[in-house]
Amino acid sequence: MSSKEQTSMFKKWKDPSNRSKLYINGEWIEAKGKNTLSVHNPATGEKIAEIASAGKEDVEYAIRSAREAFDNGVWRTTSAHERSRLLIEVAKKIEQNLEELAELEMINNGKTVREAQGDIEDAAKTFRFYAGLAIKSSEEILEVDNPFTSKVVREPIGVCGQIIPWNYPLLMASWKLAPALAAGNVCILKPSEVTPLTAIRLFELLDDVGFPPGVVNLIIGNGVNAGQPLTESYDVDKIAFTGGTATGKKIVETSVGNLKKVSLELGGKSPNIIFADCDYETALDYATFAIFNNAGQVCSAGSRLLVEKDIYDQFVQDLIEATKKIKVGNGKDPSSQMGPLVSEQHMNKVLNYISIGKEEGATIGCGGNRILKDGNHNGYFVEPTIFVDVDPNSTIAREEIFGPVLCVIPFETEREALRLANDTPYGLAAGIFTSNSEKADRMVKGLRAGVVWVNTYEQNLIEGPWGGYKESGIGRELGTYGFNEYTEVKQVIHSLHVEPSGWFS
Ligand code: NAD
Repeated sequence: MSSKEQTSMFKKWKDPSNRSKLYINGEWIEAKGKNTLSVHNPATGEKIAEIASAGKEDVEYAIRSAREAFDNGVWRTTSAHERSRLLIEVAKKIEQNLEELAELEMINNGKTVREAQGDIEDAAKTFRFYAGLAIKSSEEILEVDNPFTSKVVREPIGVCGQIIPWNYPLLMASWKLAPALAAGNVCILKPSEVTPLTAIRLFELLDDVGFPPGVVNLIIGNGVNAGQPLTESYDVDKIAFTGGTATGKKIVETSVGNLKKVSLELGGKSPNIIFADCDYETALDYATFAIFNNAGQVCSAGSRLLVEKDIYDQFVQDLIEATKKIKVGNGKDPSSQMGPLVSEQHMNKVLNYISIGKEEGATIGCGGNRILKDGNHNGYFVEPTIFVDVDPNSTIAREEIFGPVLCVIPFETEREALRLANDTPYGLAAGIFTSNSEKADRMVKGLRAGVVWVNTYEQNLIEGPWGGYKESGIGRELGTYGFNEYTEVKQVIHSLHVEPSGWFS
């Protein structure tokens, strides 16, 4: 998108007559309460859009529309081939609009263009993958005694409320919508109020593709006004949530009324374990990538770096050198390697953790400050920060900071590494760097995490399950696992001999 086109797009969104940005029942409509919310560019602090903000009445309308669309069968009885075709159309539209979507993501979230483009490509791949699964039969025939046959079928759950965070806005929307629609569900998506712009653009594309009214709905607003009414509704059959663990716990409480299905993708404090026998350059490279990619705003970030004593001093020194070279700046500058944090509020939260680290006596290896330099006065930039020799029981080693802040902790034995790695309420991901495959195998078996990377980090495969142990979540996204989370299982037992049971005669 040229900068002229971009300017005109943002102008459109700043114009009060264009605030009608809830997509319900196949139409763009005004929020009933006429409330709006402001959207900012975190690289400059500048307001870039003013958009409709949903309240309870709007959410209830979205639920009624989705309920009607599910109950009248308009989507679940559409042939699997047709559902698949529409999902492929969505993938194509995303690919055709990749540049615009990436630019929008970059401007709203702050990530670099390279990061944003990767996300948008992955979003398109997600729709393609689930277009394939939509037509793959999951029917199962069981071996049972005569005169019965038993068939197990998977059916859509119904109305799905999907609540997502701000760190991968379009990708998270795709992880939610694609499997749910492939399985025949109807959806109400609630993006983060901080980063709704690519979701709005995605729904314009969904509208072009032509889903039946009520099948895909978009509500924008904050957690209390737009999210909670979804979780509380008895007409919503499932809540799929990605976000913080504290919010996840609240959602479990507010969803309990009708015992709806709940899947949760929550936070983490993932260990990245470097053994002395690793491929040194590879481990060093991934140690920085694991924490500073997306400015550390990654649920699976390798935020606790455990390094074996034998190489500890050298590794830490090289890590600090490498980190000091990371170029922080506005994501639109192709030379920027790390962008700002998503908002002023989030930046202050991260800076507060850095202060706590200092107060608790941790040693700063590098960084530790907000970046206020020419051109970045209003942006929310924080230096890539490393705390060394961190006490594993300190606040910064235990709580999710969700920013570019790494805690480095030394260990002496494999056993100690495993104990430290698992010593957290979270269990989302873990990394191991070693050239000893038996050691890697032992560690993999002992680690309590949903994803374990060996000699790599943050490789995310659509084909495989994604989710956490312990307080990192319930259920799995992606792959067939993610598809199955959007299905109910029905067993059909059929008698081939039609005769009375004779039980009471
Ligand atoms: P958050 O929990 O503050 O908000 C997430 C979403 O929940 C937002 O849309 C918000 O409006 C909504 N929400 C807030 N309160 C709500 C309520 N009471 N009822 C219903 N909805 C409510 O999280 P965030 O700050 O946007 O995102 C960061 C968090 O997300 C981090 O903890 C990160 O680890 C986690 N995350 C996890 C994964 C994963 O796959 N496990 C992926 C990305 C992010």
